[in-house]
Amino acid sequence: MKLAERVGRIKPSPTLAITAKANALKAEGKDIISFSAGEPDFNTPSNINNAAIRAIENGFTKYTPASGTDELKDAIIDKFKRDNKLTYNRSQVVVSCGAKHSLYNLAQVLFEKGDEVIIPAPYWVSYPAFVLLADATPVILETKEAEEFKVGPAQLENAITKNTKAIILNSPVNPTGFVYSFSELEALADVIVKSGILTISDDIYEKIIYDDVPFFNIINTRDEIKDLTLVVNGVSKTYAMTGWRIGYAAGPEKIISAVSKIQSQNTSNPSSISQKAAVEALTGNQDYIGMMVDEYLTRRNYLVENLNNIGISCMTPQGSFYVFPNVSSLYGSSYMGGKILNSVDLAGYLLDEANVAVVPGVAFGNDDHIRLSYATSIENIKEGVKRIEKAIVNLEK
Ligand SMILES: *Cc1c(COP(=O)(O)O)cnc(C)c1O
Repeated sequence: MKLAERVGRIKPSPTLAITAKANALKAEGKDIISFSAGEPDFNTPSNINNAAIRAIENGFTKYTPASGTDELKDAIIDKFKRDNKLTYNRSQVVVSCGAKHSLYNLAQVLFEKGDEVIIPAPYWVSYPAFVLLADATPVILETKEAEEFKVGPAQLENAITKNTKAIILNSPVNPTGFVYSFSELEALADVIVKSGILTISDDIYEKIIYDDVPFFNIINTRDEIKDLTLVVNGVSKTYAMTGWRIGYAAGPEKIISAVSKIQSQNTSNPSSISQKAAVEALTGNQDYIGMMVDEYLTRRNYLVENLNNIGISCMTPQGSFYVFPNVSSLYGSSYMGGKILNSVDLAGYLLDEANVAVVPGVAFGNDDHIRLSYATSIENIKEGVKRIEKAIVNLEK
């Protein structure tokens, strides 16, 4: 039996694959320290859990409108007003089964054969896959570590052709953790408005930012870009709700209603129970976000300082819960049984020799780096760094 050609265009999510391998080794009884998690290690706050339990008890367990309930859309609209100074109405908002689902559906309604979609690298692993599955072509823009892995206006302008349909922007960036400033976004917005391409802005780590660095969406920099921008966000990262599968997109009504139409034919509505939980997340007490961020900050500081102390060059990112150290100085070293030539070799070596799981940077489009998530306890982080140190001491140049 022959599968459709499109299946062959993409690979399974490498981050989920590493996490699965680490979990399988754990299940075999191996004591694995995992820096591979792409999700908060905190529990969903209890007020949110209770809202879901109430939804079940009250029989709120049936289909909802495919694009989400008005109650949740209103909570999202209030959130945009309160946090981002952005105004939308209900017909400009769609609720999906996670931000990933919003992004996938946006690609389906916007992109087709012949379209080019600009993706700055390092990128979140799923962006190129969304573009490829929509028959379009990802155009990867390499960025420089010395420039905090940010794409600049000249680079963007040079990459735009008559076939360019959109750019996918993500800030804070997964995997680098860097945050675009107002002026950096403003410079990009000038190019984008001039060329008339669309921006898909993935704001999922909006609330996980340190050192009082402010968050901006590109729309904040220029009013004219609003009609060209789709904002994607969700509750997964901010409220430790990855398993609930609620994300959303906001933007021009024509595009949002096309997403709703697609959803109505492929998934129907996001879980009714999860939508009730998301309403509580967005409208209830927000205090624990700061508590989680404080904890992430302690971990970030420990990890950055101690990776540098053991000779792994790691810049200090301002957001998300990842660091993206440069490990290329280890390439070319050997150990009993092998040689380390790239990020996949190094990740394999660390998993086999040190029982530490990290994600190779090549998965994000940069082979000189690896990604470590600090969405794990400080005890695990301390032990993990110790093990990495021991493993790299054993390498021979
Ligand atoms: C986790 C993540 C998402 C997806 O989040 P869900 O709402 O759980 O689908 C989207 N973008 C980036 C950059 C992420 O890291």
